[in-house]
Amino acid sequence: MNARAPKGTADMLPEVARTWEHLQRTAQTLFARYGYAPVYTPLFEHTEVFTRGIGEATDIVSKEMYTFQDKGGRSITLRPEGTASVVRAALEHNLTANGQSAKLYYAGPMFRYERPQKGRMRQFWQIGLEALGMPEPSLDAEVIIVLMRFFDELGLPRENMRLLINSMGDEACRPVYRDRVASFIREHSDGLCEECNRRAETNPLRAFDCKNPQCSQIMSEAPLLRDELCDDCAAHYATVKRLLDAAGVSYIEDPSLVRGLDYYTRTVFEVQVDAGLGSQNAIGGGGRYDRLMQEYGGPATPGLGFALGFERTMLAMQAAGVIVPGPALAEVYVALVEPSLADAAFTLAQELRDAGIAVEMDHQGRSLKSQFKQADRLGARVVAIVGPEEIAAGEVTLRDMTTKEESRVSLGDIAGQARTLLG
Ligand code: AMP
Repeated sequence: MNARAPKGTADMLPEVARTWEHLQRTAQTLFARYGYAPVYTPLFEHTEVFTRGIGEATDIVSKEMYTFQDKGGRSITLRPEGTASVVRAALEHNLTANGQSAKLYYAGPMFRYERPQKGRMRQFWQIGLEALGMPEPSLDAEVIIVLMRFFDELGLPRENMRLLINSMGDEACRPVYRDRVASFIREHSDGLCEECNRRAETNPLRAFDCKNPQCSQIMSEAPLLRDELCDDCAAHYATVKRLLDAAGVSYIEDPSLVRGLDYYTRTVFEVQVDAGLGSQNAIGGGGRYDRLMQEYGGPATPGLGFALGFERTMLAMQAAGVIVPGPALAEVYVALVEPSLADAAFTLAQELRDAGIAVEMDHQGRSLKSQFKQADRLGARVVAIVGPEEIAAGEVTLRDMTTKEESRVSLGDIAGQARTLLG
């Protein structure tokens, strides 16, 4: 058998898993302050949830989905992103019926069949949130602020990050603009790549995302939606910017930021980082999707949200030298002087754990010297030495690994004394 994880996937070994849990805890605490509650949706959905929501002409749907037929003959897709599932769940459970709003967040794996490279995986992990049922621009500002605060809380320096924002218009101004970009592409078809030419017919705005330098050069001359927003969209965008200014969140207006998905309307945003990431430099992003629930046959229900990627965030944290505080694997190490004391040591370890202390001990009859080495490796600050003399006197020796001081403590007082030494 092939004992390697599939291409584009990675095992999360303890150090990385601990960082993932740190991100989740940070999200949980921060998002709760803004009124967001957790939601878990299935890792797979009926394929239609994504084809309809994200759009047939997007890269995700046309190239990257893990789609298969289940044994019942249904077309099933592993979720490539979280928003479509959350909106489907909100509709199914009437979370936004009768004008109610819902603020939800999620964390978990996503699946896209992409060409793996640094910061680009086939199974990757996202944290995201969605605010459903509220059209007001203050929500756009709130969502963007939460995203930036999240990176602040992780310790990523603001100067390492770039927040890009744009408005994609709505159903009043975007179709007209789309047609204008399509015409522009047709007028410049000779200089543009084949894919961009095709985009004129399917998804013209995606031509702004083309990585081909000649295409970028030509597209930099294309008409900008910013100049053609309808009055409502322009006013909405102006309020978002005003509230970001008031919150001291700096941003760069990028009129070519269109993001990959069809469902966005009005505000879109992306956070980019240079250090540590190479070409996959977006660590998070999102936007407003006021028509998505209607796509699913539900009532018109505004919404917006963001998603941030764990792997890229971690690379950015490493590049910035951010250390994730990990708990010591053992605070106290119980060392046995001879194997005959194994039962006494086992009982002591258990008592200390019941008192809330992280404890490790030797189960394998190793020498005292190698037990001390193990205590060091685990980061134990105290070693409880269980020796025949001590046990006979109803005591053990506690060694402070920092000061190297030792003291004899009676068995009943060990938890308290150990805690004092641990500080
Ligand atoms: P998107 O849904 O494409 O806007 O992605 C949101 C965030 O998820 C991005 O900013 C990345 O941090 C992360 N992300 C997206 N695709 C991948 C991938 N294939 N591998 C790793 N992270 C990804």
